[in-house]
Amino acid sequence: MSMKVGIPRALLYFKYRDMWINFFRKLEIDIVISPQTNREILNNGLKYSIDESCLSSKVFMGHVEYLRDKCDLIFIPRVAKTGKKQELCVKFFGLSDIVNNTFSEVKILDYNHDVDKRQSEMKAYLDLGLKLGKSPMQILKAYTYAFKCKLEKDKKRLDKQNELLLFDDKLKVLIVSHSYNTYDEYIGGPVVNYLKELNVTPIFADIVDKKLANKEANNISEKIYWAYNRELLGGIEVYKDRVDGIILITTFPCGPDSLANEMITKRVKNKPIITIILDEQDGSAGMITRIESFIDILQIRKARKIVK
Ligand code: SF4
Repeated sequence: MSMKVGIPRALLYFKYRDMWINFFRKLEIDIVISPQTNREILNNGLKYSIDESCLSSKVFMGHVEYLRDKCDLIFIPRVAKTGKKQELCVKFFGLSDIVNNTFSEVKILDYNHDVDKRQSEMKAYLDLGLKLGKSPMQILKAYTYAFKCKLEKDKKRLDKQNELLLFDDKLKVLIVSHSYNTYDEYIGGPVVNYLKELNVTPIFADIVDKKLANKEANNISEKIYWAYNRELLGGIEVYKDRVDGIILITTFPCGPDSLANEMITKRVKNKPIITIILDEQDGSAGMITRIESFIDILQIRKARKIVK
């Protein structure tokens, strides 16, 4: 029977899914991806995490728990730094050790991406493919193919969003939140879905030209070096004049977000902003009331501008 690799549908999955899935498929490696987060996965994540962890990494542990008896290896890359001012939060380089200490029977498949240690992305994928018993030529082909697929998917998402910005005349709200929170149906999903119910078009700060975002991020802060927060700061700069308001979504307790969001609320002027902090408690009544009032304010502002 062929080897099966489990991929937790959490954290880096939402950044790299197009790359990972196509890389493994091209190398004919069987993969199993955990399902969308649900209450059971979250409860298991809470059970196997320390209280101080952020909600997003607790969710990750729940997905590992789901996969642990369904595959031979669980894929947990270690990504530390991908370029200048492109560091990842410490959680991303500690994950495989945390899983190793928590589930002793789990076998981990990983790669290391850290430019400070001369581990480029291509080198990381080469190491990964060699661990899977593939030849350098097979790996290079799979990497090139996966990279191209990722670029195409990113471009499609960006084109679709630009079309909405140009042709959709509904109220627009910029969602500023890490991809793994925004696109997790159980975490950020309720906020996004509720906006759509209110006939509001969500625009996503992380769907942005990455190079442009990295440059524009400096307008809000030159000091912030976390890659994903810089991407979001840049997204705000790129989109803020084309949306009616901004919603910052963060999971408790996120250190990088607390610093970045503080700067955003201080430095982004003339645009209504609210912050929604998600934690492990069930119940969305408070969130719904806050979003409803926020949207009411945006509608009044928009109506006033039209009258003027
Ligand atoms: S950036 Fe925040 S939400 Fe993301 S893993 Fe780090 S602490 Fe958790």
